[in-house]
Amino acid sequence: MRKIIHIDMDAFYAAIEQRDHPQYRNHPLIVGGAPNTRSVVAAASYEARAYGIHSAMPSHQAHKLCPHAIFIPPRIAYYKTISQQIRQFFYPITPLIEPLSLDEAYLDVTHYSQTHHISATQIARQLLEKIYQTTQLTASAGVSYNKMLAKIACEQNKPNGLTILTPKKAQPFLDQLPIEQFPGIGQATAKILHRLEIHNGIHLRQANPHNLQQHLGKRALQLQQNAHGHDPRPVLSHRTHQSIGREQTLSYNLTEPHRLYQLLIQQNQQAHNDLITHNLQARTLTLKIKYADFQQITRSKTLTTPFIHPTDAHHWIKILLAPLLISPLKPIRLIGISYSTLNAPNLQPQLPLFPS
Ligand SMILES: [Mg+2]
Repeated sequence: MRKIIHIDMDAFYAAIEQRDHPQYRNHPLIVGGAPNTRSVVAAASYEARAYGIHSAMPSHQAHKLCPHAIFIPPRIAYYKTISQQIRQFFYPITPLIEPLSLDEAYLDVTHYSQTHHISATQIARQLLEKIYQTTQLTASAGVSYNKMLAKIACEQNKPNGLTILTPKKAQPFLDQLPIEQFPGIGQATAKILHRLEIHNGIHLRQANPHNLQQHLGKRALQLQQNAHGHDPRPVLSHRTHQSIGREQTLSYNLTEPHRLYQLLIQQNQQAHNDLITHNLQARTLTLKIKYADFQQITRSKTLTTPFIHPTDAHHWIKILLAPLLISPLKPIRLIGISYSTLNAPNLQPQLPLFPS
C-alpha cells in the first residue's frame, strides 16, 4: 500500500503578505489586480474568504463583496523563492514530489516511511512543523494511500489541518461526502447528478453504470472509480517530465503573421510559468504549428544555457518563425510551445530534515 501526502499552503500569497506586513494582518486582504481593472483575485486571505471571495474571482466582484478589502499586486518572483525554500524540506524525504502549483504538492513517502520506521502521518506532521518554524506560514496536509484521497483529505481541515484517510476509513468517508467535493465534478456535473438523485459518494458508487454513462458519457466510469476510492495514478516528479508546454487549437483559421507571433508570446508565458511551477529549467524551445490542412511542422532551438526568463524565448520564437512567414500565410489551426532538455536547478543535496 502506498503512502501519499498532499501538502497545500494556506492562502499562500496572502499569508506571505500578512506575514511581511503586520498592517495587513486580521484584515480582508486580496492579492491580485485592482478592482477597477479587468483582472482577477490571485489569492484571498481567510478574512476576505469570509465574504465569499475566492481566487480567480474578478477583482471588481471581490470589491463589491467587501468594499473595505485591501488590494495589493502579487510578487510572484518572491513567492517562488519561498515555494522553493519549502520544497527543499521535501527532497530529503523523497524524490517523488509532484508540484501542482507554487503552494501545493504530492509526495510519495512510501519508501521513507518503511526504511525510517516512521508513519506517513508523522512525516506530514513534522513537515508542517518545519514549514511553520522556518517560514511562519501554515500549511495543511492530507495523508492517504493514493493522490485523490490525500487531496480530498487535505481539504477537510484547512487551514493548519492534518487529515488522515486510512484504508479502513476511506470508503465510509467517501460514502458520506457531498459529490461537489469529488474531483472532476463542477457545478454543471453536480446539477446533472442531483437530478439523478445522486447527492453523495454512496449514491455515486451504487448508481447504475449504464444510466450514469447515458447522462455523463465516458466520464461516468472515472467518477465511479473515484467514488470507490480508486486512483492508481503515480506521483510524477520532474524526472518523469520529458517536456513541458502548451498547445491551443484555435477557434478560427489564423492567417495573420503578427497575430501568430502575439499568440505564441502569450503561450510562451504560460509554458514558462509551468516550468517555474515544476521548479525546472529548460534548454530547448520547440514551436509547433498545425495547418488547417493538417500538415504539421515543428521547429526547435537548443541553447547551451537555460531559458531563465520568459522573454529569453522571444528572440528565438522570431527566428524560428521567420522562414514560415511566407505570404500569404497558410491557414493555421493549432499552435504550441514546449520546453525540453529539462533539469531541476534547485535540486541539491540537502541536510536531512529530521536529524537522528
Ligand atoms: Mg493553497
